[in-house]
Amino acid sequence: MIVSKTDNIPTKRIVSILGNISIRRAEAFSENEEKAMQKLIRKAERMGANAIINFSYRGSGTWGTYGSCSGLAVIIEDINPGHQDQNMVYCRNCGKVIEIFARFCKHCGSKQ
Ligand SMILES: [Zn+2]
Repeated sequence: MIVSKTDNIPTKRIVSILGNISIRRAEAFSENEEKAMQKLIRKAERMGANAIINFSYRGSGTWGTYGSCSGLAVIIEDINPGHQDQNMVYCRNCGKVIEIFARFCKHCGSKQ
């Protein structure tokens, strides 16, 4: 699960917006940010999301007042122009697809 405080995630694109999620005020308060985020993540997972954007957490020093924790549950995927396999890259020399960890291109033999 990726959690972002902004409305976009570098190298990913949003393919589906599932909806706003939040945890109840009393819950948000009694927890620190990390615990509140974990609860929000579980909610997002139940909705089938793989990321939360626009995450916000606001605690409060005073029990019962300003606590809130919310976000937008979304489904994201890698932005990967040209081909689907994220473990592949292009050869620096010939431009053909090679494995990301390949030291030499299997097509032209050039060092990567
Ligand atoms: Zn090559």
